[in-house]
Amino acid sequence: MGVHRNARCRGPYGGEGEDAGGTDCSDPAVFEVVRHGRPPLWVCPVHLGPALLLAPGVLWPPVIRLIRHP
Ligand SMILES: [Zn+2]
Repeated sequence: MGVHRNARCRGPYGGEGEDAGGTDCSDPAVFEVVRHGRPPLWVCPVHLGPALLLAPGVLWPPVIRLIRHP
């Protein structure tokens, strides 16, 4: 889990890359949502649900990894 220690939430729309715009949340990311053809999406607990429904490329059923203990 060390590589994700400083990961920030990219939710709920899944801005691409470390410095992507359009993401209003800067909470620590707790979950990694696997996506098809895109980088994994890091999200906080609040944005996990919205990201599954709104972010592009999310697998269904969702594939989610815990990257930080809340
Ligand atoms: Zn968030």
